[in-house]
Amino acid sequence: MSQAVLILIKPDGLKKSLTGNILTRLSETKLEIVAAKMVRVSKELAEEHYQHLKDRPFFPEIIKYLRGELHDRRKVMAMIYWGKDAIKKCRDLAGATNPEEAEATSIRGSYGRITTSGIYENVIHVSSNEAEAEREIKLWFSPDEIIVDLYPTKETVEKECRHKAWA
Ligand code: ADP
Repeated sequence: MSQAVLILIKPDGLKKSLTGNILTRLSETKLEIVAAKMVRVSKELAEEHYQHLKDRPFFPEIIKYLRGELHDRRKVMAMIYWGKDAIKKCRDLAGATNPEEAEATSIRGSYGRITTSGIYENVIHVSSNEAEAEREIKLWFSPDEIIVDLYPTKETVEKECRHKAWA
């Protein structure tokens, strides 16, 4: 069955110029990219994304990490991959959360590290299961930004909503 998965290239991946390598590795899955964008991550977005870890001692550091404060790169690349067994295929390629435990040839095993303050800098985020993928995709993307219909949508009319347009 086709699944969607959120992939983030985290600020360390961008700073180390790994975007091309990571996309090449992910292309081995033969999955389809159905959305992609660069995102400047707000504190609210980062905290919502990692809400399941909010009681862990490293929570403040991973919020700074995702926002690029540890790498002077205030952005992440967010993508949605779509296709058969997308979550397992991408998580297998990414490797374990702890880069030292990740298989050496996996993305995290190849490019991740543990910082002196103990944070796992593992260059990539991959949703862990279908429920998390749906929650994360709805958090990071609006329906208009995705080229397939992943989840039910509704029409809304926004009044006096300010948007930036080309001048
Ligand atoms: P994953 O990103 O593999 O789904 P988690 O959601 O558990 O794993 O953790 C989110 C991120 O927080 C990890 O990718 C890693 O950057 C960091 N992290 C998780 N656990 C630890 C830990 N025990 N020590 C340091 N950093 C951690």
